[in-house]
Amino acid sequence: MFCMDKVMIVTGGSRGIGAATSLMAAKYGYAVAVNYRGNREAAEAVVSAIEKDGGRAIAVQADVSNEADVVALFQAVDEHLGPVTALVNNAGIVDEPSPVADMSAERIERMMKINVVGPFLCAREAIRRMGTEHGGAGGVIVNVSSAASHAGGGGGAGTYIDYGASKGAIDTFTEGLAREVAGEKIRVNAVRPGVIDTEIHASGGQPDKPQQAPAKIPLGRIGTPEDIAEAILYLTEAEFTTGAFLDVDGGV
Ligand code: NAP
Repeated sequence: MFCMDKVMIVTGGSRGIGAATSLMAAKYGYAVAVNYRGNREAAEAVVSAIEKDGGRAIAVQADVSNEADVVALFQAVDEHLGPVTALVNNAGIVDEPSPVADMSAERIERMMKINVVGPFLCAREAIRRMGTEHGGAGGVIVNVSSAASHAGGGGGAGTYIDYGASKGAIDTFTEGLAREVAGEKIRVNAVRPGVIDTEIHASGGQPDKPQQAPAKIPLGRIGTPEDIAEAILYLTEAEFTTGAFLDVDGGV
């Protein structure tokens, strides 16, 4: 029987949750496009690890908030790996804790462009390739939201409501898009991680957050990038599941 190659694009696939997802996807038989914004070395290390295990992968630079970059990312995948069958909208940023009263328009716009506009643009390009009305054979999109989407931000006043709001938008996007493209054989799901041990916390000026978090987590530990990668691969493979949200936060 003819079986189409499985091709996954992981935005922000070079570090943290994205890197763990890229590595796990290769074990599930996907050829993987490891997207990154600036850290080429980290992306190439993920590609090398996949190739060492006999898998196929490429590293592709693209800022997901830039439309031309996103178009070029999908074209590079068309050319080097074949038509995309799975998109993981993982790339995302936080910023330093700040009350709304002190937020600049520039900060809020950057947050929304990377965390919201980026996933919309990537989904658009994926639908144009996977959707049956566009000549595709179907596929799946998994959006990486956050527990912050229903916690009003970073879990306390003056943390980062802009981040929480960007993830709230991703939840709405997931629900609406799942309905919109179900008829085109595209499933759309989301994972909502709690506190996961990655470098994102240091980038938001809170390097100690992973150490402080376990006291508030019923399962008594923070999550690993692999905990989230497992959930993403489940949502990718589960053929009767669309419009679903998986909270992976240790019981918070
Ligand atoms: P991370 O360790 O900081 O890694 C971020 C990744 O995204 C890197 O590969 C980075 O590439 C890439 N990236 C950042 N901005 C980009 C852009 N504009 N275009 C393309 N790639 C970009 O982050 P993480 O903790 O793994 O987080 C991944 C996702 O999980 C995010 O959406 C985040 O909001 C979500 N999340 C994380 C946690 C947590 O506790 N860690 C909790 C809930 C949700 P470069 O290295 O090249 O910059």
